[in-house]
Amino acid sequence: MRFASLGSGSAGNCLVAEAAGTVVMLDCGLTLTETERRLARLGLEPRQVAALLVTHEHGDHAGCAFAFAAAHDVEVCLTHGTLAALRSEGKALDGVRVRTISGRERFAVDGMEVRPFTVPHDAREPVQYVLSDGASRLGVITDIGISTPHVQEMLSGLEALVLECNYDRDLLWGGSYPRWLKERIGGPFGHLDNRDAERLLAALDRSRLKHVIGAHLSQQNNRPELARAALARALGCEASWVGVATQDDGFAWRSL
Ligand SMILES: [Zn+2]
Ligand SMILES: [Zn+2]
Repeated sequence: MRFASLGSGSAGNCLVAEAAGTVVMLDCGLTLTETERRLARLGLEPRQVAALLVTHEHGDHAGCAFAFAAAHDVEVCLTHGTLAALRSEGKALDGVRVRTISGRERFAVDGMEVRPFTVPHDAREPVQYVLSDGASRLGVITDIGISTPHVQEMLSGLEALVLECNYDRDLLWGGSYPRWLKERIGGPFGHLDNRDAERLLAALDRSRLKHVIGAHLSQQNNRPELARAALARALGCEASWVGVATQDDGFAWRSL
């Protein structure tokens, strides 16, 4: 299996994973043209995407999901709640193939096993995903207010982890965001800060991890070196070993 990010952060998230010739896309929060441009940068064509997995309805994850799916005849996998939320926003479903999924049941996209799991976040029915080709497992988790025993169980013993490091607590609270927004981001249905991510990582079985990448960093309220240092503390490794996904470039292909 290999995986790469097209971009990560509040201006749009999109990741791709490929196993045995099957490509899945996880979230589609960039514009349609930008998604196509960045897929090409990774050597992929949109028609190669076998399924688009959506985590939740927020624009930075689902903004162009239906538009991409309609333009390239790609099946969209999402929970009932996420579908209902996108419908109520008036998102056009014309020409879109939809597969509703449960946050408790794994399913297959050709040669890729997909395990959704439920998370606390201020969306209708949010999930995050673990992907597996049968030999290795990749977990991707962003947009979660607090960790839970269920989340820890899902993320233990993986070979690769893309983990939200949304903000640094001091930068957020000392910054210019309005109080209600600071409370939303920092609350139990908001996002993980660097220390939350460090604690979550420290609580996992890390024995098989070959890749750890900080993701969904706030451009106002975080710095890559702070996220790297926090994850490196949990891993007991050099900070340079830890990857960070950026808004403009995501991260390049990594292989398992
Ligand atoms: Zn987000
Ligand atoms: Zn969100």
